[in-house]
Amino acid sequence: MENALVSRPEKSTPGNGLLASLPDLDRARITKDCETIALVAGQVLAEPRGRMTHAWFPAGAVISLSVGHAGHGDNLEVALVGREGMVGLPLLLGGSVSEVLATVTSPGNALRIGAAALRAAMADSAPLAQRLQRYLLVALAQMAQSAVCTRHHRLDQRLARWLLVAGDRVLAGELHATHESLAARLGVRRAGVTRAANGLQQARLIAYRRGMLMLLDRKGLEAVACACYAADESSYRRLMRPRATA
Ligand SMILES: [Zn+2]
Repeated sequence: MENALVSRPEKSTPGNGLLASLPDLDRARITKDCETIALVAGQVLAEPRGRMTHAWFPAGAVISLSVGHAGHGDNLEVALVGREGMVGLPLLLGGSVSEVLATVTSPGNALRIGAAALRAAMADSAPLAQRLQRYLLVALAQMAQSAVCTRHHRLDQRLARWLLVAGDRVLAGELHATHESLAARLGVRRAGVTRAANGLQQARLIAYRRGMLMLLDRKGLEAVACACYAADESSYRRLMRPRATA
């Protein structure tokens, strides 16, 4: 079974985008309590009903958030988090228990901060607190969109959306995912993913090279993807702009 690797070689700036967008003083307030951790593929950062001791700001790593569904062994992916976001949303609301499984799907760095230190930093910095709360709104909108997507959109549309989202989140130029793991993420059979991927390949939108899946034509993939990809992008732009009103 081939590995699927998504390549965006033009993205080379490490660091977390959420933190990078803060004013210098506010960014310094949180990063002084962060440590950089190298995450490996398959590492579990949070488990359902497990206590979250840290929040994570990916800076190269990509993390899949998924939930189980009764009667099935595989979890369904509800979000893919990269440098545009963070893992540890319950901590923003005073909670400390995860509702999802958070698994590293692409290795790389992340900034990690303890729960108490995060709360203290948010209490000290209004811009930081607002930025993280706005990201929470984005994440809620994207998860709601995913529910619509899973129920109503064709597999080739969903796969194209997933490839675009994954491509946006990868820094190091690769993301490991087999057809089998893609099928589990999307909640479908492997044969369906293989058929959909073959269609995208025949349309020259993607290609496999030495076990890597390359995005050849992003505009073409956007044309195939359902409207959910554009909706996600739109909510991020609207809510994360400097003086957004929500
Ligand atoms: Zn969709």
